[in-house]
Amino acid sequence: DFEYPHTFILVGASGDLAKKKIYPTIWYLYRDNLLPEKTKFIGYARTNQSMSDVQDKCKKYMKVRPGEEEKFKKFWEANDYLSGSYDKRVNYEFLNQTITKHEKGIIANRIFYLAVPPTVFEDVTVNIKNACVSIKGFTRVIIEKPFGRDDISSEKLSNHLAGLFKEEQIYRIDHYLGKEMVQNLMTIRFANQIFSPSWNRENIASVQISFKEPFGTEGRGGYFDDFGIIRDVMQNHLLQILSLVAMEKPVSLNPNDIRDEKVKVLRHISPIKLDDILIGQYIGNPKGQGEERLGYLDDPTVPKGSVTPTYALAALHINNARWQGVPFILRCGKALNERKAEVRIQYKDVPGDIFNGHAKRNELVIRVQPGEALYLKFMCKSPGMKFDLLETELDLTYSMRYKEADVPDAYERLILDVFTGTQMHFVRNDELKEAWRIFTPVLKLLEEQHIRPLPYEFGSRGPPEADTKLSEYDFKYSGSYKWKKPTLS
Ligand code: NAP
Ligand code: NAP
Repeated sequence: DFEYPHTFILVGASGDLAKKKIYPTIWYLYRDNLLPEKTKFIGYARTNQSMSDVQDKCKKYMKVRPGEEEKFKKFWEANDYLSGSYDKRVNYEFLNQTITKHEKGIIANRIFYLAVPPTVFEDVTVNIKNACVSIKGFTRVIIEKPFGRDDISSEKLSNHLAGLFKEEQIYRIDHYLGKEMVQNLMTIRFANQIFSPSWNRENIASVQISFKEPFGTEGRGGYFDDFGIIRDVMQNHLLQILSLVAMEKPVSLNPNDIRDEKVKVLRHISPIKLDDILIGQYIGNPKGQGEERLGYLDDPTVPKGSVTPTYALAALHINNARWQGVPFILRCGKALNERKAEVRIQYKDVPGDIFNGHAKRNELVIRVQPGEALYLKFMCKSPGMKFDLLETELDLTYSMRYKEADVPDAYERLILDVFTGTQMHFVRNDELKEAWRIFTPVLKLLEEQHIRPLPYEFGSRGPPEADTKLSEYDFKYSGSYKWKKPTLS
């Protein structure tokens, strides 16, 4: 298909996501010659602006290395911008004519990226369907979260989309699925005999999947307050990672075989109970600097007295033969001590101890960001005459091992996948439905009962109560592990 004309239409081209993420991403793909040669890009939004306005807005987010100036110029020449409403068919008919102009030959494909708020989503999709689908090639539609805010609204959205497009045309972005280490989970699990047989309740005590952010709402809490951290991060990104960690081996690498297994494991999870969740909200740190001094409620865009969580810990239980009794602990929060996303698989204590309790648990850590790494904490005899035990690690740090590798950004991979028609790293309709089934009841309870989140200080590790909860879910922290950063010799 790559020899035919393609058009990439960015709806909402005047927005934040467009300038910060989508324009830079399509430039990098264009620069690296990864896109079909005859690709045109068209921005569409209500704002009346010229191509040079678009360029100016995007400028500081796009890297242009020395020697690439000419190519950069050509990239912008392949771009066009059109202003029009989101709800009037006539504007889309004009958009259609603009696209058609580039479409010479018998086949031409179109990709629509919807970078617009959910309020205009229905209008946009209906109009694309009525006036802009390709009549001589494929039409694919990329959509961004939020995919609803509970089971009912999400179902409504899914039904709406299903009435317009086939599931094969719909690409629901969860950008965590574009991250190197998340994509690596399948290989780690299913291409290593050392892991496959121990990946179960007989050997694993608990699994922790964490997302931590070191900044607060930065004055934009108004949008966030409507959703909260559970909807923003846990129900989508963390649950997606969980399904890849916990699913059974798929029949093949075919995207639908993989997604079948992801759905299956989610179906074994019952809705989260109130007892299995802990929520927090950050308060200012009087000793901190700048934003750190401000709590969530000090953000003027946040409604007074809001009980929206900015931190959450939830334990999910998978009631199948592999995982029964193994808590999957999902944790996420804003305004914490560090930026980090990781999976921590903690193995059980060694039975029949002969080391007087000195042996610590094995832990496999898969660090998604920052700095991809995979390390396995394990026990060793301390080198030398003594027979003491030593906590050490088998360590694969990407920046050391793969110095020359250029790990692409999640959006780059995902947008390229849409061109090639690979849906493996996109969320299928039924996965989404399961995710909301698991989360909606507890979200409702938290809201109806107006449950107050526990306070935690900006820059801390979260509410101290969360650590107690962790040990209840059989995650052991000893504090005795010491890591020495390897140095190049
Ligand atoms: P945005 O900047 O607020 O909106 C994009 C464009 O939509 C605006 O430039 C505006 O264009 C139009 N628009 C804004 N509010 C509107 C309204 N009330 N009615 C009609 N049109 C309106 O949004 P964004 O941050 O780019 O996000 C776009 C989508 O991506 C959203 O669904 C968002 O949830 C999702 N998302 C964003 C990010 C991010 O980093 N920003 C991350 C993940 C997901 P015109 O006025 O020119 O028409
Ligand atoms: P660790 O020191 O045993 O800590 C494990 C985790 O427990 C921490 O990440 C922390 O995560 C949590 N924790 C901290 N205090 C706690 C407490 N009082 N109660 C309960 N949990 C607590 O092991 P590690 O964090 O895996 O490794 C230590 C350091 O070495 C880290 O900075 C790690 O990045 C580094 N290291 C790097 C590599 C590599 O780059 N390849 C390899 C090995 C180690 P939360 O704050 O998220 O709860």
